[in-house]
Formats: sequence, C-alpha cells, structure tokens
Amino acid sequence: MTDGPSYGFDTLQIHAGARPDPATGARQVPIYQTTAYVFRDADHAAALFNLQEVGYIYSRLTNPTVAALQERMATLEGGVGAVCCSSGHAAQIMALFPLMGPGKNVVASTRLYGGTITQFSQTIKRFGWSATFVDFDDLDAVKAAINDDTRAVFCESIANPGGYITDLDAISAISDDAGIPLIVDNTSATPYLCRPIEHGATLVVHSMTKYLTGNGTVTGGVVVDSGRFDWSANDKFPSLSAPEPAYHGLKFHETFGPLAFTFHGIAIGLRDLGMTLNPQAAHYTLMGIETLSLRMQKHVENAMEVAGWLETHDAVEAVTYAGLPSSPYNHRVASICPNGAGGLFTVKLKGGYDACVKFVDSLEIFSHVANLGDTRSLVIHSASTTHRQLTPEQQEAAGAGPSVVRISIGIEDPADLIADLNQALNATK
Ligand SMILES: *Cc1c(COP(=O)(O)O)cnc(C)c1O
Repeated sequence: MTDGPSYGFDTLQIHAGARPDPATGARQVPIYQTTAYVFRDADHAAALFNLQEVGYIYSRLTNPTVAALQERMATLEGGVGAVCCSSGHAAQIMALFPLMGPGKNVVASTRLYGGTITQFSQTIKRFGWSATFVDFDDLDAVKAAINDDTRAVFCESIANPGGYITDLDAISAISDDAGIPLIVDNTSATPYLCRPIEHGATLVVHSMTKYLTGNGTVTGGVVVDSGRFDWSANDKFPSLSAPEPAYHGLKFHETFGPLAFTFHGIAIGLRDLGMTLNPQAAHYTLMGIETLSLRMQKHVENAMEVAGWLETHDAVEAVTYAGLPSSPYNHRVASICPNGAGGLFTVKLKGGYDACVKFVDSLEIFSHVANLGDTRSLVIHSASTTHRQLTPEQQEAAGAGPSVVRISIGIEDPADLIADLNQALNATK
C-alpha cells in the first residue's frame, strides 16, 4: 500500500512502513539481522558515504527492519521522519544533541519521568548543557525561563507518573514566539491518544519500551521530526544550518530541507553517539504497534473504571487520573488526548509511606516493577524507587511524594484488578 493521510490509524498502525519484502515477498517485515550491506561498486559506496544517495551501509546507522519502524512511527505521529534509538533516554539525548551546545539550556517541565529529571538536572551538565525546570501550568513562568541560550522546550503530553495533561497548544505558542523547538515526550499517551505535532510540537520522543511495544519485552526509543522548524531562521542551530566539516561542508537544512533533523540524527547522531536500536527490538516493537489502538482503548477503559473505584475507597486520599471529573486536568482531555487520558495515574494513601509499602507488597495480580505501559498491571512506589534520587521538593513537584503509588493499568479483567486492589488496600489499614 502507499501510505497516505487518507488511511485511518488502525490501518496505518499495521501497514505503515511495512511493504512486502522486495527480495522474498515475505509479508511480515523480516528481521534483517545483518551488520553490513554489500555495495554495488566503489562509486555506489562513495555516494552513500557522501550522503549523495540514500541506502544501507552499516547497521549502526541504518537497517531495513529499523527503517520500517521509523517510517511507521513518523506516519502515526504525523511527522516527516524518525530516528529509532536504543532507549527512551537515548532518544532524549538524540533529540537534544543537534540543538544544544556548551552553555545552552533546555526549559523543561517539573512534571517528568523521574529518570528524565535526573538526566536533565545532573548528567547533561557533563556536556556543558543545563536545564531550567518550571511548572508548565504557569505559562508566564515558562516564558520567563526562556533566554538567549535556550535551545529547546521539553515536556510530556500526559506526564508520568501522575497522568497530568500538558496544554501543548499554549506551550507551543510560547516556544514558537521565542523561535525555539518544542520537544514532547509522548510515551504515556502514544500517538493513538495524542498527536503532539498537531498541537505545535517540533519533535516527538518516545520510550518505545512502554505502550508501543506493549508487553515489556524491549528497550527502545524514537525521535519523530515534524519537519516544520526553520533551522536556518537564525544562527542558533549551527549543527543543522551551518557547513558540516565531517561531510565536506554540507549544510543539513539547505540540502535535506524538512528532513534535515532526521538525516542529521542518522548521519551524525547514530554514527557518532551509536545509540542504535537493534533489528530484533524493532521487530518486537513493530509487532506491538499493530495492536496499539486496541490495547490503548482497553487501557483507558480499565483505568477509568479502576480509578473511579479507587476514589471511593476509604484508605485512599486522592487519585490523579485525568479521565476523572475530579481531576484539574480533566478539561484538557477533549482537546489534547481525545481518545482518553491513558492508563497511568497515581493514588495517594491516607496511611502515608508505610501504607504504600504494605499496599505494594500485598498486591497479587499487579507486579511491583520499574516499568509502565505493559499489557499487565504494574505498580511502583516512586518515592522509594524511580524518583528516589530526587529531592523531596522535586518529588512533590513531579507528583511522586512518599504517600503516592504509581499505577499502570493493564488490559486484564477490570473486576479482577479491583478485587486485588481492594484486598491490598484493606491490608494497609
Ligand atoms: C520510561 C520513560 C522514559 C525513558 O525510557 P527508557 O526506554 O526506559 O530509556 C522516558 N520518558 C518517559 C515518560 C518514560 O515513561
């Protein structure tokens, strides 16, 4: 099939990027388990290395199985291209790498995955980059945080762990005014629930480890490019607009136009940072995405039912699910994630830290793991695990205080999930 905007999501999640194999006719995307590809002749090799011809050289840069997944993700997100990476965290570095430089900063939301807060507040400093964290519900604070050295604005569409929904339209209006790209981590929503590019995002990053693969078998990430940013509007993004010495002075934006970021991601990012997704992982992720919409519908349905029930339990102080009318983010569901608020939320227990530990240890169907977006239901006590490296203030700001348990609702029978939660909550009293 030819991929086109006329096809619906359910069709594209199966067909985008997946043509019958040209060599064998295999209908499913083969796992091209190869490191290198034979050049037709020396001229062909030279053209590939000069980026004058697109093709396969070496699997650190490109691989046909990974390329099918890249095309599928770009299509589902409404972007022009995508670069797959070895993890969600790798995707974040790959997204920032062409934009940042020593002394440059990213303005980031306080409501992020705990690992991202650590990556941004600690590790990126080793590159001379920095992050300024602000409350993205406070639009004046976001505006005020952007300065001459800001090279990106970063947030999550539905933020981990609390399921808070970011007003992407308002944030992209601010980043547009400042002439700065907006990067949206769309892991918790997936393109089935939210398409950040339609709300003005420049780049979309994912941990494919979560809902996209969907069953806890893979670590992977992707950066999707909207193709809409003018990298040459000023001299802030020289990696994309200025001559590249490693390619005889080629200018990525001038040469590749809307695909500049994607080509740079492969030709410089994967070539030199080497955060490559392997073809086996791409295969599992392609399999997962084929059923994405079905799974997300069930995650949302189950989360609505379970979160609504949890709110009524007397051991529970609060539930953060944005799908519930009680959530201050409920009014954003219709505009930002019209297919539902996802399957991730937190529950705050009246019994505090000790009750949380007892609750997590008493659950039987729910697994206590550092993952989310699996077919099976998962919990984690963020304050003692994923958000452990954060200060108490950072934990509270991220919605991961000591009395809070993060719940990732799977696609099991909701009555069984409720029964399990009920016995575990009663054990905390
Ligand atoms: C898990 C996660 C990441 C990191 O992804 P990895 O694949 O674990 O590296 C980033 N952002 C969000 C929202 C996540 O849930």
